[in-house]
Amino acid sequence: MRAAVLHGPGTLAIEEVPRPRPGPGEALVKMMATAICGTDVAVYAGKYPVSYPLIQGHESSGLVAEVGDGAAGVIPGDRVIVNSLIFCGHCRWCRRGDTTLCVNGGLLGRERPGTFAEFAVVRDLQCHHLPAEVNWVDATNLAVLATVVRAQRRAQVRQGMSVVVIGQGVSGLLHTQLARAAGASPVIGISRSQWKLDLARKLGADRVIPTLDGGTVATVRAETSGGPDLVIDTVGTGETLQLALDMTGRGGTLLAFGVDPSPVRSLSSYNLYDKELTILGSRAQSPLDVELAIRGVKAGSVDIKFLTTHRYDLAELPSVMHQQKVKPEGLRTVIQIGEAGAGTASGECEKEVERR
Ligand SMILES: [Zn+2]
Ligand SMILES: [Zn+2]
Repeated sequence: MRAAVLHGPGTLAIEEVPRPRPGPGEALVKMMATAICGTDVAVYAGKYPVSYPLIQGHESSGLVAEVGDGAAGVIPGDRVIVNSLIFCGHCRWCRRGDTTLCVNGGLLGRERPGTFAEFAVVRDLQCHHLPAEVNWVDATNLAVLATVVRAQRRAQVRQGMSVVVIGQGVSGLLHTQLARAAGASPVIGISRSQWKLDLARKLGADRVIPTLDGGTVATVRAETSGGPDLVIDTVGTGETLQLALDMTGRGGTLLAFGVDPSPVRSLSSYNLYDKELTILGSRAQSPLDVELAIRGVKAGSVDIKFLTTHRYDLAELPSVMHQQKVKPEGLRTVIQIGEAGAGTASGECEKEVERR
């Protein structure tokens, strides 16, 4: 089979490799589409320690081709999306339901061979059935929606809660939509990019703010009668986390969703005490989060079609990864594998986004 093989930082090539065989409890999936996410770009650039050679890719959809002995819940021919998170099911955290915290876990395409390939082997538990109305390319967006679903479940987003979403990239726009769908009000989107703010408005933000500096805090406080109940930071730099801490209202929650190594300089116990702040982290997605994401899309409460702004074939991945590293732009880049390109519905939406 053809696969994109990473031999070292920045050294990626399309090669012919043996097709893997599913072991007990596993499924062989014929990959149809895989999105490039920030983690892939970081691994490609050598920012995570991994073993080479490595087949990357983890936000994927495909067709079950074969199942191993004892595999349950899937049969050949099933359309699935793959939960990228590997978990053991037996450790203390898995047993209490927190499979995202599994100490024996990992990520497809980082700790195990991934899905930038014609076929990949995953556990049966990692396969979720894909509704007929979601095409292969859009299906890869369910992967990121599931992480957003988890985060908002942790923050208990609900009717009447005032919510600010810092950053209106892929996850920010999904947070905006999901908060709106949960009845949060007002939902305020912040981004320095005007076209993203226009999209946020279209997707349900009550108000958008085009700046991200000290003045933003005052604007947000004025719009939310003293500070929002929930601030979701989808950027995660020291700068945005600091702004998020400053703007969160009394008794409010800060959801640190974006991930970045830069630290926050001025967090003090007094800040936490004075406003009785809650700070939450959220990591990846559990099987339940994936199921809830699928249900949300099926019910029409979240639109994931608009996310895909760029599509390429597997053969183009080496040059596309290089460009992503140097110059990220647009929203999601999806790699089509197999016949995923045929008759997909998001082509029109894609053009609409690119015109902005
Ligand atoms: Zn990812
Ligand atoms: Zn575990």
